[in-house]
Amino acid sequence: MKKDIKNYIRDIPNFPKEGIIFKDITPVLKDPIVFSFAVNEISSYFTNKGVNKVVSMEARGFIFGSVISYILKCGFIPVRKKGKLPYKTISIEYELEYGKDILEIHEDAIENGDNVLIVDDVLATGGTAKAVASLVEKCGGKVVGMGFLVELTFLNPRKKLEGYDIYSLVKY
Ligand code: AMP
Repeated sequence: MKKDIKNYIRDIPNFPKEGIIFKDITPVLKDPIVFSFAVNEISSYFTNKGVNKVVSMEARGFIFGSVISYILKCGFIPVRKKGKLPYKTISIEYELEYGKDILEIHEDAIENGDNVLIVDDVLATGGTAKAVASLVEKCGGKVVGMGFLVELTFLNPRKKLEGYDIYSLVKY
């Protein structure tokens, strides 16, 4: 089953811009067997590791993170782009390929001593995951792991994320 997942990940060349090969994971979501296999696999890796909160970033991260939080019987915390969360926030600025962006989390979302699993669909350069980890740590949480459906190993994301326990279901 694991090797078949790649059949459900579609390459979209030059999206959202020239030169990027976008990994479209919507065929995974469309198939109930493949989707449940994927979220169960990621969840299994982090079972019994003391996770009590799952943190995901918009937008596709929410799809996987919320289901994984349900499986692991954890709380779910959304991280969003600047200006989207309604309550008081803590923010972090991070580098993108071109320019900078800001991610935010509600100031009361993480409590001291929380054990956090960060979940997203694709691990590419690792910049986003690193920013979310810093945000969680700034709030007093401990990042116990990071889980992804897809890892683009040729972009070397683990170099940026040294020391974190990373699981990805499929690698390119
Ligand atoms: P990163 O470069 O690891 O910071 O990735 C940034 C965000 O963009 C992540 O949330 C990924 O979901 C998304 N992303 C980056 N590269 C791709 C890609 N080639 N295909 C699909 N999503 C991507």
